[in-house]
Amino acid sequence: MKTIYLASGNAHKLHELQAALEDAGLPIRVRGPGEIGGMPEVEETGSTFKANALLKAEGLSSVGPRDGWFLADDSGIEIDALGGRPGVISARYAGTDCDDEANNDKVLEEMREVPKERRACRFRCVLALVGDGLEETFSGSCGGLLLEERRGTGGFGYDPLFLPDESESTFAEISLEEKARISHRARALVKLVDWLGKEVA
Ligand code: IMP
Repeated sequence: MKTIYLASGNAHKLHELQAALEDAGLPIRVRGPGEIGGMPEVEETGSTFKANALLKAEGLSSVGPRDGWFLADDSGIEIDALGGRPGVISARYAGTDCDDEANNDKVLEEMREVPKERRACRFRCVLALVGDGLEETFSGSCGGLLLEERRGTGGFGYDPLFLPDESESTFAEISLEEKARISHRARALVKLVDWLGKEVA
């Protein structure tokens, strides 16, 4: 049985992937970086989500077994009126040790004068799968509007400011099930699972 090592210690991400693989009937097990000595330090120096996802996947593959597969993701929000920022620096937009609140405050301030018709944005996610002579990437996006104030208390990151095209509710107001249907991560995951379905008989 093939093993995919996930370059993330996030138990939710691990279960999400394992469940998607099981639903598709794929004989692949998912393991966290703890199984192979932990995630090595990787500097996210890439200028694209794809480059950073590949850096993280390759970082983990350098400490894992030769025949393993290694999966990493990179994600963030791109705001058109800010020339695509925060983009790859979404997690640390307001500074290296900043939190979600500070990031949201910074974006709101920069977007203060921007009218509704120019507030388009999108979340993007790239999953990179490497190892055993393999290098594949899968991307997903979810477009919407950057609101003028926070709405909702669920989710994380920029969720309270993001109104997806598919809904009247922000990512911080919708259910986890709904987010798992339309999110950038979910869309990238569907592509990964489709690809694995063809590769892994
Ligand atoms: P990563 O962990 O390097 O992929 O950074 C992702 C960052 O992008 C997070 O810290 C959030 O700020 C933002 N982000 C990515 N996906 C989402 C999402 O689904 N909701 C809200 N913020 C997100």
